[in-house]
Amino acid sequence: MTNLSLYEPFGKMQFTDTNCFLCGTAITTEHRAPVFAEWLQRKYNLKDKELLLLDKSVTSFGQLTIPCCDHCHTHYLLPLEEEVESAFSQGIEGVRQLPQQRLFQWIGKMYYGTLVTELIKEANPLIMPEYAVSEDPKMLGKFRMFFMVLQSLRVPMVFSDFLPCSLFLLEVDPTEDNLPFEYQDELTTMCFSIKLGPVAVVCTLLDNGIIGRALGRLYGVTQGQQLHPVQVAEFKARAFYAAYIFAVVPEYFVRPTKPDDTKLVLDTLIDDVTNEIFNPWEMTAYAHMLEEMLKPWSIREDKILQNPGQPLSFLLDAQNNFKPIQHFVKPV
Ligand SMILES: [Zn+2]
Repeated sequence: MTNLSLYEPFGKMQFTDTNCFLCGTAITTEHRAPVFAEWLQRKYNLKDKELLLLDKSVTSFGQLTIPCCDHCHTHYLLPLEEEVESAFSQGIEGVRQLPQQRLFQWIGKMYYGTLVTELIKEANPLIMPEYAVSEDPKMLGKFRMFFMVLQSLRVPMVFSDFLPCSLFLLEVDPTEDNLPFEYQDELTTMCFSIKLGPVAVVCTLLDNGIIGRALGRLYGVTQGQQLHPVQVAEFKARAFYAAYIFAVVPEYFVRPTKPDDTKLVLDTLIDDVTNEIFNPWEMTAYAHMLEEMLKPWSIREDKILQNPGQPLSFLLDAQNNFKPIQHFVKPV
C-alpha cells in the first residue's frame, strides 16, 4: 500500500534543523541536502559563490543546505537532479522534453529551500528579523498551499487539470552572454529564475498558469529566437512584475482516497468572483522593476519611461513584433 499521507509543517511551524523538510521525519543535524544540487555547484563553480539571503545576510551556494532525511535525499531529490542535469546537457530542447511537473518540482525545491532557511532562522529567538515572513498569515497561507503541491516530489500526485505555476523557457544568444549561471528569486511574490548556460527558465509559482496565459503572446514571440541577455532581463521584469500584481491565491484540495489508491488527485479553485486576478498595472512600478533587472546595462527609469505610453522595450518594436538584437547599443 502506498503511503499517501502529506506532511503539514505549517500548523505547528515545525521548521527546525532536526525535521526532514520534505517528510518531517526526525533526523540529526548532519542530515542535510544542498538547495542547489552538487552538479550545479560543480558545473558552475558555485560552491563559494556568495548568495544574499532575505535578511541581507550572506551565505554561499555551497553552504545553503536544508534538513533532509536519507530516504528523501536518495529516493526523491537525487533522481530528480539526475533527470534535470541530463535534460540541461541537451540544451533547450532537452529542457523542453522534461515533464513540466518535474521542472516545477525542481524549481520548487530550490525556492522552498531558501524559504525554509528563512523560516528556520526566524524560529531562532536571537534573531529579530525586520520583516518576518513567518508572522504574515497571508504569506503562510500561500506557502502552505505551495508546499502541498511541492510534495508531489515525494507522494505520487496528479494535478487534475492545472500546473501550479507558469514556466517560461528562453534560449540565450551566446554572443554577448558572459554569465554562465544566474539565479534570482523573490520569496514573497514567489518568482524564480535560473539561467544555466544558454537556457533561462523563468517561473512564477502558485499562479496555476495564469501569468503564463497573460504573457502568452509575448512568450510566443520569444520562441524559436535566441535572445540577447538584455531581452531575457526584460522578460524577467515582465514576469516578475506580473507576479507582483497577481492578487489571488489558488487553493488545492485532495480528493478523498480509497485504501488501495496509489496516488493522490488534486483539484484546484481560484476565487475570481470576489477577487480581481491582477491588481492594476502601474507603469512606474513596472519601470522600477525593469530598471532593477537592467542594472548590468545601467539603464535608468527616466530612460525607460521616455515615452510614457510605451515603456522602453528590447523585445518588441513599436508594432509589438519581435525585435532581434545581436549587439547591445545603449539607448540614447
Ligand atoms: Zn524525508
